[in-house]
Amino acid sequence: MIRKTKAACQIGMYGLGPMGRSLALNFADHGYSVATYNITADLTWQLMNVPGLPSLVTPFFNEKDFVAGLKQPRTVMIMVKSGAPVDEVLDRLLPLLDPGDVIIEGGNSDFRDTARRLRVVNEKGVMYIGSGVSGGEEGARRGPSLMPGGNVEAWPVVREMLQSIAARNPKGQACCEWIGPEGAGHFVKTHHNGIEYGVMQVIGEVCWILRAMGMTNDEIADAMDGWNVRMKAFLLEITSEVLRARDDDGSPLLDHVLDVAGAKGTGAGTVVSALDLGQSVNILAAGVAARLMSTNRKRRIEIHELYQLPEPKLPGDPKEWTAKLGQALEAAFALAYAQGFTTLEEASLQYNWKLNLPQIASIWGGGCIIRADILNEISAAFVKEPMLDTLLVAPAFVECIRKGVPALREAVSAAVLGGLPVPALNSALSNFDSMRSPNLVSASVIALLRDLFGAHTFKRNDRPGAFHRNWGKV
Ligand code: NDP
Repeated sequence: MIRKTKAACQIGMYGLGPMGRSLALNFADHGYSVATYNITADLTWQLMNVPGLPSLVTPFFNEKDFVAGLKQPRTVMIMVKSGAPVDEVLDRLLPLLDPGDVIIEGGNSDFRDTARRLRVVNEKGVMYIGSGVSGGEEGARRGPSLMPGGNVEAWPVVREMLQSIAARNPKGQACCEWIGPEGAGHFVKTHHNGIEYGVMQVIGEVCWILRAMGMTNDEIADAMDGWNVRMKAFLLEITSEVLRARDDDGSPLLDHVLDVAGAKGTGAGTVVSALDLGQSVNILAAGVAARLMSTNRKRRIEIHELYQLPEPKLPGDPKEWTAKLGQALEAAFALAYAQGFTTLEEASLQYNWKLNLPQIASIWGGGCIIRADILNEISAAFVKEPMLDTLLVAPAFVECIRKGVPALREAVSAAVLGGLPVPALNSALSNFDSMRSPNLVSASVIALLRDLFGAHTFKRNDRPGAFHRNWGKV
């Protein structure tokens, strides 16, 4: 039965997939009346069949009624598949909206698309917010981390609503603050996902190393729990959970899971957006590449059958290694988060967004997938020194990296010798070894090669200027 409400709704949710549905229910839990709409009726019916659906949720079956059911000035949140569907929804919604209305687009949109859409929407006097939403379906339902950006004039209109449904960080602050103009909110969300890609790959590699040393899934889960007493990282918490999960017959679920890791393309886009800013994000890139590698299982099996090499088996005492790998993992986490924040800092400068980095670390302290204790250190480091060039020089990072890098080096070496691929751990280590190097010999070689084949010139370390050698080529 379709419920009718006389009172106009405070917010409209367009798109009732896992995220839109959960956010709609979250708004209702916090006392906001929500109009809901989905392009096909199926998802609307699914929402209506949610047991105990709050009376504050009102489903609509056409866009006109949906918009008419909203209190003016209207606030509409769009949660649909990112890309072309967002443009299609805007095309349909805009003619129905009036100047002063606010659109919040909360999908995983490319920040450049958000900036473009903002201009189009603004032409009609409608305000536009591109908001990062993190925490998955559960986060959306119980308290996500929200990263709104775009028209700052719209912030006072939506602030109370968004902050009330957001998660709280360990200090009790709402995990939702204004991020910046244009596509800043979506950019920050994308690079949150970038860190997520990197550290998930790091975690996966550490699990594999311990497995190759003979540990069971439960023993690895115990190790994760032990490390997590200090690190308090959500991703370690859920890794322990998946390692302990059982299949119907009581055997470990993980042992039955195909070795193919999916991706929706966000990671690749994030790498490109960092490269556009002249930033190397090799840990994130390793995570993206490893997932791509996993998808071509047929080819991997053909090559395995051709070379007939044994499965990686690493020697060593698992107990001793557990302590070392905890340190290695902590250092790799620190390097991945540092890389992500350097990109944010660069974006802030190049795009003139004036990002508040301590606040971003604080927003990520709850509700989102990469929440972890390290974010407190990051926030403190940027409060102390807002123009900090890299977190690698912040005292807490120095201590963690000094302690963890020897273990990281040992772990990578053992894995490489044992034939076990560790692209993210290795990238973290290479990142550190490059960052600490005053003399990148490989770069000098490349500079000369470029000069030889392309007359690109090179710089010298003993006098200023650009030089070209006559290589005796025609
Ligand atoms: P999906 O990304 O799977 O998108 C499904 C929703 O989009 C459905 O409501 C679907 O309607 C609608 N849709 C698809 N094409 C169109 C179109 N052309 N016009 C109108 N509606 C359309 O759903 P999620 O809820 O998972 O995600 C929503 C957004 O949030 C995405 O951008 C996603 O990347 C982002 N996000 C997702 C997270 C997650 O953990 N799932 C976490 C954070 C952000 P129908 O099915 O009726 O076609």
